[in-house]
Amino acid sequence: MNDVVLRLNGVEKIYNKGLSNEVHVLRGVDLTLKVGEMVALVAPSGAGKSTLLHIAGLLDTPDAGDVSVGGEVLSGRSDRRRTNARRRDVGFVYQFHHLLPEFTALENIAVPQMANGVAKPVAEARGVELLGRVGVAQRAGHRPAALSGGEQQRVAFCRALANTPRVILADEPTGNLDPATADQVFDALMELVRDTGLSALVATHNMELAARMDRVVKLEDGVLVDA
Ligand code: ADP
Repeated sequence: MNDVVLRLNGVEKIYNKGLSNEVHVLRGVDLTLKVGEMVALVAPSGAGKSTLLHIAGLLDTPDAGDVSVGGEVLSGRSDRRRTNARRRDVGFVYQFHHLLPEFTALENIAVPQMANGVAKPVAEARGVELLGRVGVAQRAGHRPAALSGGEQQRVAFCRALANTPRVILADEPTGNLDPATADQVFDALMELVRDTGLSALVATHNMELAARMDRVVKLEDGVLVDA
C-alpha cells in the first residue's frame, strides 16, 4: 500500500544478548504510519521509546522483525542502503536541538541540503521558507547560542525537514521547554507537518500534546497498544 510511510512488523530488540544483564526492550512492535498521519508515542522513561525511534529511523537494526520506509523493507539491507534511505526519507528531532554552534540558523538548514547536492542558493531559499513557516525568519542570521530554547527547536524542526523527508521522528521535541513555550513550539511542529503533508511519530510525556495528534500509541512491556 503506497499510503503507508512507515511500517514496523514484529520488531524486537535485545540489548546485551546472552549476558546476565540482557534487556529485551522491544518484544514484537507493530506500527503503521500513513501519509499525513501524526502519531504520539507515550511510555514511561526506560520503556524503549528511543530504541524504537532509532530502529524506525534506520539508525539501529532490530534483532527480529522488519522496518519498511516508503514501502521498501530496509531492516535487513546493507548499511549503505539503510543510510541512503535514512538521509532521503527520515528527519530526526531530539529533545536537545543539536544545531551546529558555529553556523547560523539558516546555515544549519542549508548545509544538510548542500551535503545532498543541492546548490547553495536553492538550499538557502528553502531554509528561509521553512524558517518563515515556523515564525523565525527574522532570526535566520543568528547562531544557535543567540536564540531562545523555543527558537532553537523551531530551527531544529526546519533542519529535520530540509531534505524533504517522508517521515519525522521526534524524541521528546518539547521536553526541554517550559510548558507555555512547549505548547507554541508543538503547534509550530504540527503546522509544519500538516502543511507539508508529512507524517510524524512523536515521543512525548505530555499527554495534552499527545491528545492533539491523530492517534496515541503506548509502549507497554515491549509492545505497542492503542492508548
Ligand atoms: P526510553 O527512550 O523509553 O527512555 P530507551 O530506549 O532509551 O528508553 O531504553 C530502554 C531500555 O534499554 C533501558 O532499560 C535502557 O537502559 C536499555 N538500553 C538502551 N540502550 C542500550 C544500550 N545501548 N545497551 C544496553 N542497554 C540499553
